[in-house]
Amino acid sequence: MVIVLKHNIKDDEKQRLRDFLESRGFRIREIVGEEETIFGAVGLAPMDLREVELLPGVDRAIPITKPYKFASREFKKEDTVVQVGPVKVGGMRIAVIAGPCSVESREQVLETARLVRESGAVMLRGGAFKPRTSPYSFQGMGEEGLKLLKEAGEKEGMPVVSEIVGTDYADMMREYVDVFQIGARNMQNFELLKRVGALRKPVILKRGFAATIEDLLMAAEYLLAQGSEQVILCERGIRTFETYTRNTLDISAIPVVHKLSHLPIIVDPSHATGIRDKVPPMALASVAAGADGILLEVHPDPEKAVSDGPQSLYPAQFEKLMRDIEVLAPVVGREVARLPLRGNLAAAGRPGNAAGPGDAVFKSGTDAPGGVRRAWEESAIQAQVAFQGEPGAFSELALKRYFESDDVRSMPCESFRDVFESVLSGTAGFGIVPIENSLSGSIHENYDLLLQYPDIGIVGEKKIRIIHNLIGFPGTDVSSLTEIYSHPQGLAQCARFLDTIPGVRRVPFYDTAGAVAHVKQEQNRQYAAIASAQAARVYGLEVLKEGIETNPHNYTRFFIITRQETRMTADADMASVVFSTLDKPGALFHCLQILAQERLNMKKLESRPIPGKPWEYMFYVDLEIPPGQADYHAAFDRFGEAVDNFRVLGIFKAAV
Ligand code: PEP
Ligand code: MN
Repeated sequence: MVIVLKHNIKDDEKQRLRDFLESRGFRIREIVGEEETIFGAVGLAPMDLREVELLPGVDRAIPITKPYKFASREFKKEDTVVQVGPVKVGGMRIAVIAGPCSVESREQVLETARLVRESGAVMLRGGAFKPRTSPYSFQGMGEEGLKLLKEAGEKEGMPVVSEIVGTDYADMMREYVDVFQIGARNMQNFELLKRVGALRKPVILKRGFAATIEDLLMAAEYLLAQGSEQVILCERGIRTFETYTRNTLDISAIPVVHKLSHLPIIVDPSHATGIRDKVPPMALASVAAGADGILLEVHPDPEKAVSDGPQSLYPAQFEKLMRDIEVLAPVVGREVARLPLRGNLAAAGRPGNAAGPGDAVFKSGTDAPGGVRRAWEESAIQAQVAFQGEPGAFSELALKRYFESDDVRSMPCESFRDVFESVLSGTAGFGIVPIENSLSGSIHENYDLLLQYPDIGIVGEKKIRIIHNLIGFPGTDVSSLTEIYSHPQGLAQCARFLDTIPGVRRVPFYDTAGAVAHVKQEQNRQYAAIASAQAARVYGLEVLKEGIETNPHNYTRFFIITRQETRMTADADMASVVFSTLDKPGALFHCLQILAQERLNMKKLESRPIPGKPWEYMFYVDLEIPPGQADYHAAFDRFGEAVDNFRVLGIFKAAV
């Protein structure tokens, strides 16, 4: 049962309650949630709920109706996020785990680790004990293989995952692996589950190919009942009458598990399909269905693999798949997890105290490979990041997604100018501002501010999909609403939905999240707001209807700004510049001609009036820097000479 504690419960009351329940044979797990603290109590003997509700400090007791208790959503409402070293599995991220089926040699595992990390994997897999269908097949390198896996993981800064096939290996393996994998064939090996659960290390529990989702959750319950909290479920295909693929990937298991359980669920399309070219589409389908991660087999030379070669991806296929996942993730409101920067790089690239961006200094920054957090991003996590709006605003969502960390200290500001001011004064290390929306176009105020603050530059960008939700008091009947609050853009973008509520008044508000706060404060059940689902959570209201925007292709692009030099990182591929031209025929044409000659692809051209100079304009241009074009400085110099008032606003890695 779930026992919700009173807000004002005292520590000694809590302890007495725990002692009492334990004396009645219950196992207790305390969960401190955002709104309330609960005791999850699981025991063999039933107890009358009314008796529990009479105990001091208890607010109410709710029975858990499912046979699995600790694993159930009833037990814990919030998603569990499993932390493996620097990697989080669950919540808003998608963690990609990749590596060979089996560790075969030092060269093979080191090479695979390097390749998968370079493409963006955050954990390394590799089997050292292989549960093979035939006793005559390769059985794995054993402890020697684990040593090599650990070496490769340490070299690349990646946690490692390997399968345990018997209880006897537990003590030995815990020295080498960060995550134990329990394979499909062992899902119901209850002695193994109990032994591994007691180790309290993260576990990937694969669904057996003849197991129902309930069987899987009951197996997870074995791990959780031992006190382990770090369980990641894995769908890897089940046996059906279909023989074309090795197994049939049950994609529907993802939303089903999310409904029934708080545990994260990842998908292994490699073992599910058994065929290499079926793996990428199934991986993408899994991401679309809400998977918290993907487990993939990758081999530098699959033809030579000692096991599962036909389903192992070529490194180039894996790289392409990572790019596709990166593009798809924001569509379903997720982010691809990245590894933090390695220690030596972090030290090398800390934002310094050099010249401002106005000086257009190009510095060779860190040599950060793909999928690795840049050094200054690391420092942002310690710094405050200013955004315009109230907590729960889309800008705050974008900054959390950009920095991929819930630990970023976001700092609400009243206006866009306040964001720039906070960055300039150093109150905030970074700021985030929206620059354009796919439906409504540019946010000119921020272009103007970029011009007015020459000491502030752009260091990154983020595009997020804007999903609008109708938010109100729980259980409100939408047709009874009389007033709906939101930012004018929110109201405009949901016009078709608003038309379906007769007589409702559309009330413009300065900010979407602020509108939610207002509705909450008014305590009027006939009021609702349009904002992000996060805003509903922040203010304790309910999403009455999800995704009410007329056009779902609604994306906003944000710039990350800071008071730093214009930092050139090895992965930068976009420059944002601003200039004006002389007032003579062909002046703009001449500038653009230089860009063409220098082969700099123009992604965006925007003009803005120059304040105080009627009918004169500044041009904002986004330029794509071709890969490997190390020497575009010369091109910029030529361009700078041809135009008036040339300034580089930033050079950064473009968002996908
Ligand atoms: C594996 O991941 O190497 C493996 C053997 O998977 P499964 O248990 O899903 O067959
Ligand atoms: Mn395999």
